[in-house]
Amino acid sequence: MANLLWLQGGACSGNTMSFLNAEEPSACDLVTDFGINILWHPSLGMELGDNLQKLLRDCISGKIPLDIFVFEGTVVNAPNGTGEWNRFAGRPMKQWMKELADVAQYVVAIGDCATWGGIPATAPNPSDSKGLQFLKRARGGNLGTDWKSKSGLPVINIPGCPAHPDWITQIVVAVATGRAAEIEIDEFQRPKTFFASFTQTGCTRNMHFAYKVSATEFGQRKGCLFYDLGCRGPMTHSPCNRIYWNRVASKTNVGMPCIGCTEPEFPFFELMPGTVFKTQTVMGVPKELPFGVDKKGYIALASAAKIAAPAWAEQDIFVV
Ligand code: SF4
Repeated sequence: MANLLWLQGGACSGNTMSFLNAEEPSACDLVTDFGINILWHPSLGMELGDNLQKLLRDCISGKIPLDIFVFEGTVVNAPNGTGEWNRFAGRPMKQWMKELADVAQYVVAIGDCATWGGIPATAPNPSDSKGLQFLKRARGGNLGTDWKSKSGLPVINIPGCPAHPDWITQIVVAVATGRAAEIEIDEFQRPKTFFASFTQTGCTRNMHFAYKVSATEFGQRKGCLFYDLGCRGPMTHSPCNRIYWNRVASKTNVGMPCIGCTEPEFPFFELMPGTVFKTQTVMGVPKELPFGVDKKGYIALASAAKIAAPAWAEQDIFVV
């Protein structure tokens, strides 16, 4: 039986909503099939007031072993580093977070806010928010660069705004069933199994990307969303086109550009209409190119692709 505790810092509850929609495995399966004991979760736990404080203190003292500590939301440090703007169960949440992280076997940060600071940490960052071990792309965060949990692992980061439900439950199950050693993490402490590939990997519009055939409106069934509509699929690490949302679709296959919500810099262009869904160009060349592609290579590839594009690439190939 693995004890799991889930707390929320500065959060919109988006990752909780995502978690409650998990299917493979579901939140219920965690309890019934994988022996996870959810000590408390903001949407599932009933303990309030003194009882909740006692539960948290018992975890910190070691009376209740804490196997998996999940943190959702940003760590608020304002004002003046006290964290008083985000009080929970009688104390600043940042204090609970640190003391519980220090006694947990594994710590998992869910969503952009817990991993990188997220939207609240965007400049000017009035709440002085940080992620657990990062502030955007900079190492450190609230716990510090060298911090490790009792198991010897740093915080396992599962970014996204929100994170996909199955990314959350699959990692929690791997940890709870003693397979944490199999979770390879990258330089940003993300599980490589989910974040080594790009949103573009598996996108149904890849042929249109290759032939430089552009979609010019949301929802168009033909065309790639990179050239005009600002799709960040080639620069964003996520498996959104390998593990579909609700088992049905991804943004890009229904004609909505990827907005790069798993990357530390998110939100790009502060999500302002007119910038976020518009490819920024200089002399017709996108300012941000697909990961690993240089300007010279892009220009050569794009000109050849345009010349080579077959007639069908301009047609709606999904006609029924
Ligand atoms: S740029 Fe976007 S729409 Fe185009 S192929 Fe890549 S992920 Fe799909």
